[in-house]
Amino acid sequence: MFLSKLILRRGPTFPRPATFAHLHRIQRTSPYSHQKILYSFYSTKTAPAEVEPERADYQVPYTSDSFPHIKRNPAFKKVTSQDIQYFKSILAPEGVLVNDGVRADEYDLLSYNQDWFRSFRGKSQVVLKPRTTEQVSKLVSYCNAERLAIVPQGGNTGAVVINSPGNIGGGVAIFDEIVVSTSNLNQIREFDSVTGVVTCDAGCILENVDNYVAERGYIVPLDLGSKGSCQIGGNVSTNAGGIRLLKYGSLHGSVLGLEVVLPDGRIVDGLSKLRKDNTGYDLKQLFIGSEGTLGIVTGVSLQTPKRPKAMNVAMVGVESYEKVQNAFHRAKEDLSEILSAFEFWDSGSMHYGKALGSKNFKAPFEKDYPFYVLVETSGSNEEHDTEKLGCYLEGLFENGHIEDGVIAQDHTQYTNLWSIRESLGEACGAPVPIYKYDISLPVPVLYDLVEELRARLVEHGMMGPQGPVSDVVGFGHIGDGNLHLTVFAKELDSKVKSLIEPFIYEWTSKYHGSIAAEHGIGLKNSKFIKYSKSPTQVNLMEQIKKTMDPNGIMNPYKVFATHDY
Ligand SMILES: Cc1cc2nc3c(=O)[nH]c(=O)nc-3n(C[C@H](O)[C@H](O)[C@H](O)COP(=O)(O)OP(=O)(O)OC[C@H]3O[C@@H](n4cnc5c(N)ncnc54)[C@H](O)[C@@H]3O)c2cc1C
Repeated sequence: MFLSKLILRRGPTFPRPATFAHLHRIQRTSPYSHQKILYSFYSTKTAPAEVEPERADYQVPYTSDSFPHIKRNPAFKKVTSQDIQYFKSILAPEGVLVNDGVRADEYDLLSYNQDWFRSFRGKSQVVLKPRTTEQVSKLVSYCNAERLAIVPQGGNTGAVVINSPGNIGGGVAIFDEIVVSTSNLNQIREFDSVTGVVTCDAGCILENVDNYVAERGYIVPLDLGSKGSCQIGGNVSTNAGGIRLLKYGSLHGSVLGLEVVLPDGRIVDGLSKLRKDNTGYDLKQLFIGSEGTLGIVTGVSLQTPKRPKAMNVAMVGVESYEKVQNAFHRAKEDLSEILSAFEFWDSGSMHYGKALGSKNFKAPFEKDYPFYVLVETSGSNEEHDTEKLGCYLEGLFENGHIEDGVIAQDHTQYTNLWSIRESLGEACGAPVPIYKYDISLPVPVLYDLVEELRARLVEHGMMGPQGPVSDVVGFGHIGDGNLHLTVFAKELDSKVKSLIEPFIYEWTSKYHGSIAAEHGIGLKNSKFIKYSKSPTQVNLMEQIKKTMDPNGIMNPYKVFATHDY
């Protein structure tokens, strides 16, 4: 009777000896106030491993009620007792969860029917938990023949909330689709200590894979706030971005091979470990980011780079977005190969992070600043990297690009600075009325969108003490041109929504941005896809879907606006 595990924490980083020399050196040369030592910060590692669902969970509205225009496809069969018998002939008894009111009830299925943000709630009556690729193949083949719709589900952390487009709930049913959970496909299959290629089951939790390769001196080139719960298969299927993308690039580059069960049950055995393979189309790319609509990923081979021996993190206060850009420009120049993350957020995000994020959130500065930047370096030489970061920060300070800053002096401080950044994401998942967007834009105009939307809401009397909107805030992975824009409201209001959408999409389209930078399309973005993709592109995607899944059983109602492909 437990909800699936969710541990919001960063994995172990790379403890390095606390050295105060660098800090002292900077203090000697400037009145820079980063002498604060952050010993008392909360470590997110204390997050509970398992969370009991509360009866209040049932108050999450059914997705089918929230989206009444989406109708159940009548071509799909309803699950019968014969179907259950077949599933039980393939899987061990504990691998078939059925809401029959006897062995399991709605409460037992809740964690599979509801997303992490408690925004979506499906009506699935059956959850299947295969342990092998062959079992997945048999189940999917049967479902295809019987026209039973399927939702592949990993860690169920897919992001964005009900008033927001994105993949949240992408792994949750809408009607009575069967949930195929990959959580029992959780074995590391192989690791090559020379090349760093790890091959694992799709249901391996990201953090577990990272810990496994860490013991062998490597690092998974992907890191998310949800790493304690999300699974490699889910990461691949959402093409998750996260905070290491700046250094290691996207999964389109790191994934070397995939094993996938197609919607008709055939197994694509593509677990290549090759970096170079130009024999025809690179089919694995189709599955990366396809959000479970083209098949179930069962195995992944991933290129993992050597784990950096030294990691540093600094947080600075900045006066304007222009100065944030200057700091980024200088980071690329001064830190170059050791720059591994460059994150920014505004004062509004800091406010909500403090109010709604981790309970022990503690800002390192006495003063508030309009913007904050977190810079991380990772390299192979502690002394060299520390020196480089110090010179970079000194340069920024002397040129007036930053106002204040702190540098983590040990592992705890390192984790604590990152937990401030991660609190921002947690705040946007808090149970308060919000509209949330995940946009890619050219860096020079990225923050203009926040300011223009704010001005627009003020102009229409929607924002301020009397209006329904409290604030419009922005944070994100500036190194990747990725803005997470959130509108915090006192209540949800159709007038507010009509001022935000399609304005935000039109604005993004004008600057050739993407309306779904890293969270995907899911249920809600489908009708807005046209702002980032041409009709020819959308048509081609629909043709691919139709070819690979002619019966449309694989994660129906997601990604495409029409379900008649
Ligand atoms: C606190 C927090 C922070 C986050 N930070 C980030 C971030 O920085 N960057 C980012 O990109 N995302 C972020 N996310 C979103 C989310 O964690 C990622 O999208 C993650 O990759 C989803 O993985 P999952 O295993 O939870 O997938 P699920 O949520 O279970 O599924 C997501 C989608 O993938 C499909 N799917 C899952 N597994 C498979 C499979 N094996 N085969 C085929 N399809 C499958 C599902 O059908 C669904 O459409 C964050 C989420 C949280 C809660």
